[in-house]
Amino acid sequence: MRAPAPPEPGTEARLDRDAILGWLRETDADRLGVLWRAADETRRRGVGDEVHLRGLIELSNHCVRACGYCGLRAANREIERYRMSADEILGCARDADAYGYGTVVLQSGEDYGIHADWMADVVRAIKRKTGLAVTLSLGERPDADLELWREAGADRYLLRFETSDEELYRLIHPDLPGRRSDRFAILATLSRLGYEAGSGIMVGIPGQTWASVAADIDAFRDLDLDMIGIGPYIVHPATPLGDRSWVRKIPPDEQIPGDELTVYKVVALTRLVCPQANIPSTTALATINKVDGRELGLQRGANIVMPNLTPPEYRVRYEIYPDKACVGETAEMCRGCLQGRIEAIGREVGTGPGGRRRD
Ligand code: SAM
Ligand code: SF4
Repeated sequence: MRAPAPPEPGTEARLDRDAILGWLRETDADRLGVLWRAADETRRRGVGDEVHLRGLIELSNHCVRACGYCGLRAANREIERYRMSADEILGCARDADAYGYGTVVLQSGEDYGIHADWMADVVRAIKRKTGLAVTLSLGERPDADLELWREAGADRYLLRFETSDEELYRLIHPDLPGRRSDRFAILATLSRLGYEAGSGIMVGIPGQTWASVAADIDAFRDLDLDMIGIGPYIVHPATPLGDRSWVRKIPPDEQIPGDELTVYKVVALTRLVCPQANIPSTTALATINKVDGRELGLQRGANIVMPNLTPPEYRVRYEIYPDKACVGETAEMCRGCLQGRIEAIGREVGTGPGGRRRD
């Protein structure tokens, strides 16, 4: 299918599902140049030239879940589990403050060893001792936990729906006993509780079609998300998707690849349909192109990067997928590296919390 012209920036509502699909399948370099420029201009008008830094703290790699793609899944006995103490987390948050980051993102497996009250105390302490916005990404916790953390001062919550293809989702993301996973329902709860809600997908999951990713991009628009994370699916050999024991068979020409170019297309199209969302240039993208993947993401629609603050001894154990970018670095190194990369492409490092713009 021939992709139609991208919309003029500001008229993004015209990019319908067929047009999105056409652009996803586009291979012509000149035409893709048009897409990159439209996404970059829409980004500039929608969220400006500032690149906001969100300091990432990977506070625990324990997880009760069995996600078929992720190295932290409970059944993986090959990783040494850890859970950071409140003091360690606060130390990282102080580093974020000192580095001038506006936000910390506290991420973990779905770990019920993280008690809801304990987490609420940590959020309160960060809010009291720093001026930081607090984003949580702690999995599918019960509504009562989400409510408690919001009352404690948490500002934002990230929960990717991973794919809007229900059949594929059910295959790669098994339910916990007695609890049907419904990430769309949790996203609605987050918005009701007053969080800025973030979601996103992996691109190139085995069994994921081009059409389903076009539907994902449509879903981003319908959900009116504040943050949208898009990264390539990366094979982890110690998982059922990695060793191909869980496979959904689809015709080969319907399988969307998880390569760099396809991820840039998804980022660019997402920017066109969600001009004011905060869109990170993800670590997974930087992992598949360590030279300039992050910069290209920023030049094709993204406006956020997430420097890692996790202490190096824990960072290596947060192995969602192998060979993750920046695992051997310290928080200080990440900060300097990212600032340099942002300035080298003519953008500026943002100040303040960098919340969702709505105007
Ligand atoms: N446990 C929480 C959750 O699942 O929402 C937060 C942590 S989880 C590691 C964060 C994200 O990592 C997931 O939403 C998923 O998109 C991504 N991820 C997991 N395994 C991956 C893989 N093999 N390749 C790329 N991204 C992956
Ligand atoms: Fe656990 Fe999240 Fe990994 Fe699933 S993606 S196994 S919930 S850490």
